[in-house]
Amino acid sequence: MLNLVLFGPPGAGKGTQSEKLIEKYALVHLSTGDIFRANIKGETELGKLAKSFMDKGELVPDAVTISMLEDVVNKQVNPKGFIFDGFPRTSAQADALDKFLAGKNWKISAMLALEVNDEELKKRLLLRGKESGRPDDANPEVIQNRINVYNRDTAPLKNYYEAQGKYRGVKGIGTIEEIFNGLCKEIDTLK
Ligand code: ADP
Repeated sequence: MLNLVLFGPPGAGKGTQSEKLIEKYALVHLSTGDIFRANIKGETELGKLAKSFMDKGELVPDAVTISMLEDVVNKQVNPKGFIFDGFPRTSAQADALDKFLAGKNWKISAMLALEVNDEELKKRLLLRGKESGRPDDANPEVIQNRINVYNRDTAPLKNYYEAQGKYRGVKGIGTIEEIFNGLCKEIDTLK
């Protein structure tokens, strides 16, 4: 099994690259952001709760996020592997994921981290806000808060995976194809 954590700040290109990676490696794409947005659209209870955090650029509470993620993984029939996109985002989530996978005799193969500087991120997110209609991309204060939350809660996960020898940094600036090739090069060393 190939289980990848695709890591990087908001706007790093995780969604774009995930789409290409699932096609090439036949993996299941699990984006917690996408799942929350689908729940908001479907006006579920989970969606209402998630929206109240997402609109401010805050993280949805760990307990809710972890149980949602586990439910979706449990529904897959004979998966070849997963791309976890936007999860884990806190050390509690990383711990929970390791334990959950271990219970199935699975594990994370690697964390692939897209490296992009703050200036480029803000530019990309504001542009995406104009095109995607995502409310959390349209407001500079919400964008800044997401970057701050990322730096405070999520960036430390680099150390968590580095300690397990699983961290792989990949240059996140360039054409979509160049970045994709950088990711594939790392993935192909795992097999
Ligand atoms: P981006 O990486 O561009 O911020 P995402 O779609 O991954 O976009 O996430 C959008 C929002 O969804 C986050 O700002 C957060 O509120 C919520 N979210 C997504 N994944 C998680 C998670 N693993 N834990 C908590 N909140 C999450």
